[in-house]
Amino acid sequence: MRGTLPPCLGDAMRRSELFLPTLKETPAEAQIVSHRLMLRAGLIRQASAGIYTWLPLGFRVLRKIEQIVREEQDATGAQEVLMPTIQSADLWRKSGRYEDYGKEMLRIRDRHDREMLYGPTNEELITDILAQEVHSYRDLPKNLYHIQWKFRDEVRPRFGIMRGREFLMKDNYSFDLDIAGARHSYNKMFIAYLRTFARMGLKAIPMRAETGPIGGDMSHEFIILAETGESEVFCDRALLSLEPPEADIDYASDLQPSVDAWTRYYAASDDKHDPANCDVPDDDLVTARGIEVGHIFYFGAKYSEPLGAVVQGPDGGRVTLEMGSYGIGVSRLVGAIIEASHDDNGIIWPTAVAPYGVGLINLKTGDSACDQACSELFAFMCAAGIDVLYDDRDVRAGEKFADMDLIGLPWQIVVGPRGLKNGMAEIKARGSGQRSEVSLEDVRSWAMENLPRPA
Ligand code: ATP
Ligand code: MG
Repeated sequence: MRGTLPPCLGDAMRRSELFLPTLKETPAEAQIVSHRLMLRAGLIRQASAGIYTWLPLGFRVLRKIEQIVREEQDATGAQEVLMPTIQSADLWRKSGRYEDYGKEMLRIRDRHDREMLYGPTNEELITDILAQEVHSYRDLPKNLYHIQWKFRDEVRPRFGIMRGREFLMKDNYSFDLDIAGARHSYNKMFIAYLRTFARMGLKAIPMRAETGPIGGDMSHEFIILAETGESEVFCDRALLSLEPPEADIDYASDLQPSVDAWTRYYAASDDKHDPANCDVPDDDLVTARGIEVGHIFYFGAKYSEPLGAVVQGPDGGRVTLEMGSYGIGVSRLVGAIIEASHDDNGIIWPTAVAPYGVGLINLKTGDSACDQACSELFAFMCAAGIDVLYDDRDVRAGEKFADMDLIGLPWQIVVGPRGLKNGMAEIKARGSGQRSEVSLEDVRSWAMENLPRPA
């Protein structure tokens, strides 16, 4: 049967073939809804405390999030690299962080007894590369990013991948000649972050964060409001209705007005919140809990100085590079999105990050009319490049409904014997629960119009 199907353009998949171990019972170890749903919907399995295996469905979501992050970074002119996970302790001694970092750093010795570590972040490594390779102001500015696994030996790994020990982060590092340049690099990331999170269906609010000894206003955490968030946050209600910047924003232009449009409103998490300095009227002040999904930070010469990232300036003098670093918790975002978008029956994926665009449910596998109608629809969507997950398993209809709701694909197409007698199928929107009866012919045109296909 399969051999006769037209070639598949997308990632269509039969449920009977997919490795998707779902759970009916709520796992006792999971305290928050995203962790419970990630286990139940077969996205992840724990390997050891704070360390997880990503199963096919979860890995697809992770890759989609990663790709959105990548596209928005590329749009700013940042360039992707890939630094190693294992680093030598030497560079960290130069910056002084080998001792300072404490127990969160996983320290390793190789066979020659050399001290190594599993990178919790990459400032030292990237600064060293720039110090070696960049010698003139003409080579600046530069902004390099990578999307790589990090390890932090958190005291209390919890909430599944939300606070893991091993986690995937996008981190980038900007290098500029002067503070004005550094501010522009910072502003680019500020805008890119707003766009990145909005594309995932999230409302992330930039909040003033700790700057350390350097002071100033260039440190923001991007926070999603959710009941299960780890920090308490305070912000002006006006921020909740601001629109993210448009895709055609010109990153070479002055971005300060677009940044100011956000930063002029009060927003702070618990460690920065100061009631004495908060002039938002009580009625307009939102007090909530939040999940930190990103952090952008300007820190001047903190690393370039000790690691010797110095170039020749336009007037021949030596200039120490101005740096900033910018992180996004790529794996944490999977949990954050679920926290923001679910109901009692399961996950509700925003289309942009859904593991599959649509689920096709065959209510009566083994019934020749149902099998044939489903096979034809599946083949049609396959050929159109629609990423459909076809539940062709020989299990009860109720189980298929429950499973499809649990894994949260944005759309469901339901084909059963009763509707088929009149040539009809049902389309259900997972989010609203709205259903409509549609003829088999119209299902095809609906799919072409409404489901994402490869460009
Ligand atoms: P937190 O205060 O949550 O520990 P952090 O200040 O240590 O975060 P950064 O060093 O700025 O975080 O890292 C950048 C991003 O990486 C964070 O905004 C967060 O989304 C993510 N992140 C940090 N620690 C973890 C972790 N243990 N598990 C998953 N994601 C993490
Ligand atoms: Mg931390």
